[in-house]
Amino acid sequence: MSIEADLLERASGRCELCSATTDLAPYDVTPNQGPSLDTHVLLCATCRDHITRPATLDNKHWYGLNESIWSEHNAVKVLAWRVLKGLGDNSWAQDLLGQMYLDDELQSWAEAGLSRESDEAKPQVVDSNGTVLHDGDTVTLIKDLDVKGANFTAKRGTTVKNIVLTDDPKYIEGRVNGTRIVLVAAYLKKA
Ligand SMILES: [Zn+2]
Repeated sequence: MSIEADLLERASGRCELCSATTDLAPYDVTPNQGPSLDTHVLLCATCRDHITRPATLDNKHWYGLNESIWSEHNAVKVLAWRVLKGLGDNSWAQDLLGQMYLDDELQSWAEAGLSRESDEAKPQVVDSNGTVLHDGDTVTLIKDLDVKGANFTAKRGTTVKNIVLTDDPKYIEGRVNGTRIVLVAAYLKKA
C-alpha cells in the first residue's frame, strides 16, 4: 500500500491535527528519512498551509490540538508540539504545551524540526554588507533611487527609519519623504 493509503486508514480519513476530511495528504514530519508511516502525518490543506507558512497561523484553527497532543502516533505529537510552539506566547497554546509529555527522543525530534522549519519560513533579509535586517531597523541608502510613481529621487545617504520586512527577502518597506515605498535590501546599509 502507498503511504497515503496507510495514513488514510490509520487516521480514519481525517486530518490528524484538526479532523477535517477535505484535501488530505501526507506530511513528512522529518524529511529525508524516506517514506515511513512513523514519520508522516495525514493533514488537510489548511493545516499544511498553516504549517508551511507560519505567518498565517490562526489560533482558532488549532483548537483541535487538545486531542492531537494525546495521539498514540509520535509523528502527530511531534507536529502538534511544533505547531503549539509556533503559536508563541498564546496562553491557550502554553497550557497545552504544559500538558504534553515528550520523552527525550521525541523532544529532540520535535525541536530539530522547529529550528529548520522556522529558518525556512523566514529567510533572512540582509543589507549590502550582509548584515541581517529586522523590522524597526534604521537603514541608509547607498545609492540614489528613482521612486516610481512618486516623482522624486531618494538620495544616497537618505536615512529610512522603522523599516518593515516584506514576504520577499530581497525587499523591505520604508518611508521616504513621507511616502511608503519598497526598497531593495541590497541597496541599503544598516545604520
Ligand atoms: Zn487539518
